[in-house]
This record gives sequence, C-alpha cells and structure tokens, in this order.
Amino acid sequence: MIYIDIQYVQGESIFTRVNREIKQSEYLKEDIETEVIIVGGGVTGATLAYYFTKNNINAVILEKSRIAHGSTSITTSLLQYELDSNVGELKTHTSEDNIIKSYELGLKALNEIKEFIKEYGNRCDFQIADSFLYTAKDIEKKQIEEEYKFRRKAGFPVEFIDENKNPFSFNIKAGLLSIEGGAKLDPYKFTHDLLNESCKKGLKVYENSEVIRVDYSEKGVTVETVYGHKVKGKIIIVATGYNTELFTKRNFGIKTTTFNIATKPINNIKEIYKSVVVRDNEDPYNYLRTTSDNRIIIGGEDINFIPEIFNEELCNKSYDKLEQRLKNMFPHLNIDVEYRYCGAFASTQDNLGFLGKDPKNSKLWYGLGYGANGILYAVLGGMMLSKLYLGEEVKDLKLFDVGRFDS
Ligand SMILES: Cc1cc2nc3c(=O)[nH]c(=O)nc-3n(C[C@H](O)[C@H](O)[C@H](O)COP(=O)(O)OP(=O)(O)OC[C@H]3O[C@@H](n4cnc5c(N)ncnc54)[C@H](O)[C@@H]3O)c2cc1C
Repeated sequence: MIYIDIQYVQGESIFTRVNREIKQSEYLKEDIETEVIIVGGGVTGATLAYYFTKNNINAVILEKSRIAHGSTSITTSLLQYELDSNVGELKTHTSEDNIIKSYELGLKALNEIKEFIKEYGNRCDFQIADSFLYTAKDIEKKQIEEEYKFRRKAGFPVEFIDENKNPFSFNIKAGLLSIEGGAKLDPYKFTHDLLNESCKKGLKVYENSEVIRVDYSEKGVTVETVYGHKVKGKIIIVATGYNTELFTKRNFGIKTTTFNIATKPINNIKEIYKSVVVRDNEDPYNYLRTTSDNRIIIGGEDINFIPEIFNEELCNKSYDKLEQRLKNMFPHLNIDVEYRYCGAFASTQDNLGFLGKDPKNSKLWYGLGYGANGILYAVLGGMMLSKLYLGEEVKDLKLFDVGRFDS
C-alpha cells in the first residue's frame, strides 16, 4: 500500500511507481535520545541527515508516512543554478550581489551532488545538463537579453540563442543557454541513496512515526510521535516541506498547486533534449526534462493551492494544457501521457528557501527548500546547517535567514 501526504500531493507520481524496490524502515517503538531530530523524510530531511552524520553528529529522522512520498515523489527534479525569476524582477526584492551569490551557491550545490555521485556511484540517474531559458514572445526578448548580459558580466558560462540559431523543435524568440548550469536526477532514488549512506554512519530512520507534539526545555527539545514514544534531542530541524503548522505559526511563502505530466518512453527523442533542461519565461513558467528511460516530464500551469488542489475539473484543465503544450512543442513525437500528478508548491519574493534557526527559538531550526530550486537548497541546508551546529560561522546563511521578511 502506498501512503501519500494526501493534502499536499495528488495523483499518480512517476517516481514512486517506476521505482518498485522500496526499502521500508520501522516505526519508532521506544523512547530514544539523539543530538539532532530531523522531522520529515523527503529529499531535504535525507540531505540534512547526510551532512550531519558525515560530520559525526548524531541524528534521527522521523517521517510521518513513507520516505520520499511527499513533494519529493512529484518533483520534476530539474536542477538549475538560476532562480525562478529573472534578474529584472529579482532586483526589486534583493541586491545584484545577492542574486550573483545565489547563482554561485546553486552551482556549488550542483557540484556537491556531483561529488556525492563520484564517491558513491550513480544510482539515481544523475546527469549534468545545460540549462535553457527561453521566450517565444517578441515582447520578452529584452528580459532574456538582460539576464544574459547580467550573467555573462558576472562570469557565468552562457550563450545567447536567437530565433535564427534555434536548434530546438519549438518556437523561440530569444534563449539563454547556461553551459552545464543544470542537472536532472531521480529524486526517489537519490533520497534513498543519501539515507543508505547515512545509516551506515549511524543515522536512525523511522517511518510511520508522525511527530504530534514538541516541547522545549533549557537543555533541548523533546518530540512525541503518534504511538506515544519520545525522542529527546538538542535541536529539532523542521524538514516537513510545505506543511509546517505543527511547529510554527510563521507563514513562509505563497502556496500554489503545481502540475506535472510524464509521458511513456519515447524512442525517437533527439539527443539534444537529453542533455538540456528547459524552462520558459511565462508567469507561471513551464519547464521540462527527459528521463533516463526517454520519457518527457513537463511541469507548470500552476493554480491556487486550497481548495483548488481538490478540484478535479480544474486540475484536469492544467494537465490537459500541459499535454497540449508538449504536443505543440514536439509535433513529430508520439506523446502518450502515462502519469499526471500535482502538489503544493511555495514561492518567496527572492526565490530562496528558509535555512536556519527560528529568530525566537534557538532550538527550532528549519530546512525548507521553497522556490523552484528546492533540491539544491536541501543540499545547501545540509552543508550550512551542519557547520552552524558545529559552531562555525556560516556567512551565506544570511541569504536564507528565516526572519528576513519579518517587519
Ligand atoms: C510539481 C513540483 C515540481 C517541482 N519541481 C522541482 C524541480 O524541478 N527542482 C527542484 O529543485 N524542486 C522542485 N520542486 C520542489 C521540490 O519538490 C521540493 O523542494 C522538495 O521535494 C521538498 O522536499 P522536502 O523533503 O522538503 O519535502 P517533502 O518531500 O514533502 O518531505 C516532507 C516530509 O515531511 C513529512 N512530514 C510532514 N509533517 C510531519 C510530521 N508532523 N511528522 C513527521 N513527518 C512529517 C511528510 O510526510 C513528508 O514526507 C517541485 C515541487 C513540485 C510540487
């Protein structure tokens, strides 16, 4: 039986269905002690656990349902160093220096995943790709040009593609190719891989162990799970994705419902599409990637979150629009859609997630990869929060400061 976080994920996710071999962990059956309590067994919880255990810090993961069955099961897993918005829009919320720093951190996180693969082997279909941002509208050409000039000036390897040099089967008016600025992977396999390696170093993972209560004291924090057992730790890290109500009243971002469809394997996809991840400049934008077995996953067509995520008719409209878009983009391919799924998504003004301590409670930490680069933020969270725990100064955490929008 497959359990999903019913409120936050809907439909048949590709990644929990194509990956049949599922390793299951026990639920918590006794009271235990640890240093770091990580709540949430998605890609973020797993990545945090990987870096904490790598740094010899005792950690436990408590997952309410099954590992990687929340947003992690439906992410498109298209990794890009760039942010969701272009520089023109971002500059109204943050500085140019911060934007460049965010791009650099995105590349750093990509590189970390490369290193992980180098060390443990590629068991999650990881592939480095170029990242392509484009518009099919004359009126938006200037935005792409501005983004291109900004990144080139800052030293990122980019190429400008105009409509006369278009190597793709779909219309473009202007495009920006970031050389090796992206990647793709199977998020379900990646999460399990991170956990397998961390368990070898002492991580304890408990599935079907929902945290229902949190109590803080001078010494640390105690959580109670659904079957009455307790975990004592020094800190708690909330890695529960878009569902944070139990831990804080903070409102972290604007929630929407976002959609994915995945095709059946297609035997004549051109090579060019296998080594590039694509995003358009629409608002909300659409994005696509291929998989290792030659499927195409396309995402986008966002609508409001609650109650729209439960409105089948509205959701079907978004799925149908994505399918039509794909057929228009690839008129020569036999597009046969196999999976349709959607889920909550949260965006922030500066497109960055929240990593670090609660401003009012030093034992309450967050690992929330909001924005489109959630997986890269999970990696940065793991790297930076484990250092912070060890008492190091981590300057880059400022960008992800939990209280940065507090007035
Ligand atoms: C359709 C879609 C496409 C996306 N595409 C991309 C993309 O291309 N690239 C990218 O980088 N990001 C993308 N994202 C974002 C990405 O999916 C998320 O950043 C990432 O999956 C979040 O992982 P997570 O581990 O934080 O959350 P989740 O995977 O949701 O994990 C949180 C876990 O916490 C558990 N939990 C909740 N409450 C409790 C509790 N009280 N006790 C115990 N456990 C609890 C849940 O059961 C869940 O398993 C996309 C998101 C969506 C919805």
